[in-house]
Amino acid sequence: MPELPEVETVARDLRPKLVGATIVGARTNWVRTLRSQDPVAFADGVTGRTVEAVGRRAKLVVVDLTGEAALTIHLKMTGQIFVVPADWPEDAYIRLVLELEDGREVRFRDIRKFGKIGLYSRDPVSGELVEEIGGRAVFAAIGPEPLDPDFTLRDFRKLIRRRKGRLKPLLTDQSFLAGVGNIYADEALWRSKLHPLRSAASLRPPDERRLYDAIRTILTEAVERRGSSIDDYTAPDGDGSMQEQLDVYQRTGEPCPRCGHPIKRIVIGARSTHFCSFCQRLSAADRKGAKAILRGMTGGPRRRGRRWTDLDAGGQDGSAATPRAERTRRAAATRRAAARAAAGA
Ligand SMILES: [Zn+2]
Repeated sequence: MPELPEVETVARDLRPKLVGATIVGARTNWVRTLRSQDPVAFADGVTGRTVEAVGRRAKLVVVDLTGEAALTIHLKMTGQIFVVPADWPEDAYIRLVLELEDGREVRFRDIRKFGKIGLYSRDPVSGELVEEIGGRAVFAAIGPEPLDPDFTLRDFRKLIRRRKGRLKPLLTDQSFLAGVGNIYADEALWRSKLHPLRSAASLRPPDERRLYDAIRTILTEAVERRGSSIDDYTAPDGDGSMQEQLDVYQRTGEPCPRCGHPIKRIVIGARSTHFCSFCQRLSAADRKGAKAILRGMTGGPRRRGRRWTDLDAGGQDGSAATPRAERTRRAAATRRAAARAAAGA
């Protein structure tokens, strides 16, 4: 699922294409793509508005519109956004289209249909995005942005010292920190030599500093490389290359780039977690409650080979019918077609 660097890339690609463009219509073929599930109200709400800015908050693209309104776009598992000429052929996975006055269309393509698009108003006083009914702030429960220049090590320490629980689930908790997901949590923990099951309460000040630095540097590098094009992720101007730089994510059984021991994989909260059990040690105290999770560990030296490659290739459901590599290959073909369309625009 796209995380901070991927969504930031999408927002940056969209900005020059959309700022100044006026929306003249909207159509939906899957109402649940809309947070409101009301395509008529949505079309009425966006028609006639001009795009003022495109940004990001957490894992959502935020498109500011004239008249104190804004669209939020959550890509979730397979969401993609393309800006193409209106006469470009549409495939069956386009869930929502914004028609622009200049003859282009913004197309939201989403194979698995988990993506969500919301239309909100912006409170003129607080600047917060609020829901039309009830006025609840959309991002009220979301933690700070880790790449915000004002987000200091001191802030991070204050934040993490208030939290209990283990590091991996904590880092991917959006109320703790915005935009970090599975990929960059695994990478930041490996870089800071902290075990994913380590308890937040056991961190010493040097651990906190390493983790803070690792989160910020991995996210900065990933933004520079346009994110990691894994599974279906692509941006309007094409793929990212960060996937080539990842040290542990989806590298089960491969040697750790630091020490050479094989990368292990465990499942925490139904999500794969990749780490090096040699450079990311777990204290005896933390190991106690983690036994059940660690028993399911894969990627050990005797377990390497086809069996474990298959396990990772099969994706979350483990089915061999749609291996991850095949999905990535199919998605790449779509991306190339979309890139050709964009070039012709
Ligand atoms: Zn290692």
